[in-house]
Amino acid sequence: MHQVRPAAPQLADIEPYDPKYLPADVMISANENPSDVPSDIRREIDHEVRRVAFNRYPDPLANELRDMIAEANGLSRDQVIVGNGGDELLFNTALCWGGPGRTFLNLPPTFSVYVNNAQLTNTRIVEVPRNPDFSLDMPAVLERLERGDVDFTILTSPNNPSGDLVRLDEAKRILESTDALVMIDEAYFEFSRQTVRPLLDQYENLIILRTFSKAFSLAGVRVGYLLGNERVIDQYKKVRQPYSVDAVSQAIARVVYRHRGEFERGVERIIEQRGRVFEELSATDGVEVFPSQANYILFRVDGAHEVWQQLLDRGVLIRDFSHSRGLENCLRTSIGSEQENTRFLTELHAVLDARR
Ligand code: PMP
Repeated sequence: MHQVRPAAPQLADIEPYDPKYLPADVMISANENPSDVPSDIRREIDHEVRRVAFNRYPDPLANELRDMIAEANGLSRDQVIVGNGGDELLFNTALCWGGPGRTFLNLPPTFSVYVNNAQLTNTRIVEVPRNPDFSLDMPAVLERLERGDVDFTILTSPNNPSGDLVRLDEAKRILESTDALVMIDEAYFEFSRQTVRPLLDQYENLIILRTFSKAFSLAGVRVGYLLGNERVIDQYKKVRQPYSVDAVSQAIARVVYRHRGEFERGVERIIEQRGRVFEELSATDGVEVFPSQANYILFRVDGAHEVWQQLLDRGVLIRDFSHSRGLENCLRTSIGSEQENTRFLTELHAVLDARR
């Protein structure tokens, strides 16, 4: 066959993102909401989607949705931008603040997509690993930022996969120590009920990422948003795909956001179940559990990869991090429905008992 020349060199070491979805009875590997959008809201969505003109391009900036998000957060439209899931906005962050000759400070272990985006955009990556309990190594982070060469960094709160929060005083100290763009990724903030939103008024270098994928049960629809200073948001307008958020997704997101109070019960159920799963894992011999403020829990167990495989053989899919640096022998379970969590705990106990 006639051959094509090699792709861009920065792709050579990149593995395509693989959510490792394998068919299972209980899918608790991707931090999804165990409940779909309630049926009365689905009916309203059907009605709204019927009114969408499929032959017309969507509103590029999703202004109606932007206004709703802005109002709910006490901001103006210019301080909000909507994207095709948080993922698009993460990629756009690397396009806006990264690139050749620029530097991203990563704080691993954390969400792997950040590093991929930096690699794709030829951004230099420097790292300050977290402490063994996954808290930030603050002296090292501050020391690294003080060198002045970091262009952007991402603090994840709650962190994925460890579940711990960035403390408000730590966020402030980091924001004050640098003029780098500091993203606080709050994809899971609804499960922690804590946000750095109040800091936006003081720090132009703060940007907050949120998503409709978790608390609002819309992982399949792909809507995320950023809250930030107007001058920062303006940069994102330059790099985004003009129509990245399609008209159907905009319509769905508007209805869901209008009814956002009704998702509170689901969030409460997840928080309750998180407490239960945490207690049961803590009481399990051979398991070290990390406290979580998100809709997932990280735990460490000897022979984690085999445990993961045996759980899958028994119909329960969780996430295996045992091959990731700093996460040796770690597995992460999403908080599912009560029945899903019961099944997970039952099968885990069976797997561990069989190994004794
Ligand atoms: N940030 C973090 C920490 C995440 O875990 C995720 C989802 N896995 C995202 C952002 C992006 O989510 P989405 O693209 O579904 O909005």
